Amino acid sequence: MDGKADLHMHSTYSDGALSPGDVIVKAKEAGLQTISITDHDSVGGLEETLALGKQYEIEVVPGVELSATLNDHEIHILGYFMDHHNKVLLDSLAGFREERMRRAERIVNKLNKMNIPLSMESVLANVGSDCVGRPHIANALVNEGHAEDYHQAFRKYIGDGKPAFEKKNCFSPEATVRLISDAGGLSFLAHPGKSVSEEFLIQLINAGLDGIEVVHPSHTFNLVQYYRGIVSEYCLLESGGSDFHGGKKGDDNILGQYTIPTAAVEMMRHRLFSN
Ligand code: AMP
Ligand code: FE
Ligand code: FE
Ligand code: ZN
Repeated sequence: MDGKADLHMHSTYSDGALSPGDVIVKAKEAGLQTISITDHDSVGGLEETLALGKQYEIEVVPGVELSATLNDHEIHILGYFMDHHNKVLLDSLAGFREERMRRAERIVNKLNKMNIPLSMESVLANVGSDCVGRPHIANALVNEGHAEDYHQAFRKYIGDGKPAFEKKNCFSPEATVRLISDAGGLSFLAHPGKSVSEEFLIQLINAGLDGIEVVHPSHTFNLVQYYRGIVSEYCLLESGGSDFHGGKKGDDNILGQYTIPTAAVEMMRHRLFSN
């Protein structure tokens, strides 16, 4: 019988609240058979997650979530099954994390200019590893009493287009897809419903995507049907998951609710080995 797979979640190696071990325990409780921890710009937790997967008898697909710039707009690309020892991949990820650090400094500077005395130290105190993101800045803003809650921090200050927002400098979608495929992996456009019009979607498919993240909490039922149609029209693969961040954003009970059948993961493997 088909099991359930959730191929999008985060750990303390990026902006998730839980360690890979705690994520796996939750995934097991939620009845998931296959998972992928897709930390932003980091495969630092992967070795540990693969070992824990064996221990808890959960299949772990190596994963990562990368940011790319399309027409001055940030999109996210999920990489699966890549070789996480690939040198070019590891060097690029380290570079992306450095840019995240520089960008966090740019955001903190903007906040300081707005008379919000937030320090980089208080931001970094929230970071579990070496991959800083806006969620860590949001937590610091809340902890220091500058925002009432996590979501307000985004709405008031650091959400897209808000006064203290700063872009990250990212690769193009083509270069991002190539980075993943050169490391032997497959690339999927993450949560297109959040960020991508149909015109851009076709542009991205032409950039060499292997598939689309069809199932995601930000997608309505109709949107899921729509992306499933695109997947079949362009002979792409389907992915999906919860984008679980470990309860940080009120997503405590999300595991098990946004899944794809394990047969979809098998189709990814077929695509990999038939290339
Ligand atoms: P970053 O990669 O540093 O730009 O941070 C992006 C992450 O911040 C996303 O993966 C979300 O988890 C979170 N995020 C972005 N915008 C919002 C928002 N408006 N409200 C809550 N969380 C957000
Ligand atoms: Fe995130
Ligand atoms: Fe994302
Ligand atoms: Zn994510």
